[in-house]
Amino acid sequence: MLILKDIFNKISKDIGIDLGTANTLVYVRGRGIVINEPSIIALNKKNGQILAIGREARKMVGKTPSHITVSRPLVDGVVSDFEATEMMLKYFINKVREDSFTSLLSPRVVVGIPSGVTEVEKRAVIDVTQSAGAREVYLVDEPMAAAIGARLPVEEATGNMIVDIGGGTAEIAVISLGGIVASRSLKVAGDKMNEDVVRFVRNRYNLLLGEKTAEDIKISIGSAYPMEQELEMVIRGRDLISGLPKEVVIGDDEIREALAHSVRIIAGNVKAVIEETPPELVGDIMQKGIILAGGGGVIKGLDQLIAEQTGMPVRKMEDPLTAVVRGTGIVLENLSKFKEMLTDLGDGKRIR
Ligand code: ADP
Ligand code: MG
Repeated sequence: MLILKDIFNKISKDIGIDLGTANTLVYVRGRGIVINEPSIIALNKKNGQILAIGREARKMVGKTPSHITVSRPLVDGVVSDFEATEMMLKYFINKVREDSFTSLLSPRVVVGIPSGVTEVEKRAVIDVTQSAGAREVYLVDEPMAAAIGARLPVEEATGNMIVDIGGGTAEIAVISLGGIVASRSLKVAGDKMNEDVVRFVRNRYNLLLGEKTAEDIKISIGSAYPMEQELEMVIRGRDLISGLPKEVVIGDDEIREALAHSVRIIAGNVKAVIEETPPELVGDIMQKGIILAGGGGVIKGLDQLIAEQTGMPVRKMEDPLTAVVRGTGIVLENLSKFKEMLTDLGDGKRIR
């Protein structure tokens, strides 16, 4: 029986999922990352049917008639709309399972979830994943998955520090011996920075921007630390007084000012987590540096700012947006090794 189970495990198409507030990524064992799409779903309110998921749904943002809702089922790192999350997960899992005969076997699934998620919400993610067809479900705290994805030696007796800034949450964690030693999960991350840009431009120029435009501005010329080269950008929105379209040229210094408050909160919390970390581990982190992951970690000069505020070296990792899903992939490929770090959680298991 055991042998049969081994064969079963070998050929089943195990899946790793980064259920992010901004982006959902799916990794398939032996194949790599096969899905990388926005966590967005468009529904027809009249009949409850799915109109689009992912990139297609994103195109509809801000352009829908009243009977269509386009929403992000995960807000602030929390499953805010259980049914929509379930539909989205089912869609992605089925998309991966469709194109092979091994789809007959239900997969084992490793899901990365924000560390601030409650036990009830974790239960919800396990239920959703099981009803989407998973045979076994394992949960991994996102900062742990990101650290594994960054190839940090998480199981060793050494301090590893990861700062993963996503859309809804920023996860700050120190990891040693396979566990999280100190951590914080903030609701200040990429989305909040988009709001910062909207507010700043409204207050200074009486100009109303859409969220997508604000995000484009943040990505193009946003920074956390003064840069050598000055940047500017023409931005378009609606004049709040005349109600008509208006153009303004905005500089990188202004966007830096807009983001300053959020950036300071993140850096301040990184500092606080370091202060809660035992000194031996701080020594290790001092040598290896703090690792920046997630889309929000890409902001220009954030590494310099955190380094200045904490007195620690900071490294941007390669391909930071895929760190978590690559981490879930590494867990899948080495399940027996990581199983020691798994704790029971009902039918599912969890790495924390
Ligand atoms: P999540 O894990 O919550 O799904 P991601 O790690 O995918 O989030 O990151 C998404 C966030 O990263 C968004 O807020 C997006 O605006 C931001 N982002 C992506 N690329 C960049 C960039 N080049 N510069 C600044 N922010 C970025
Ligand atoms: Mg993430």
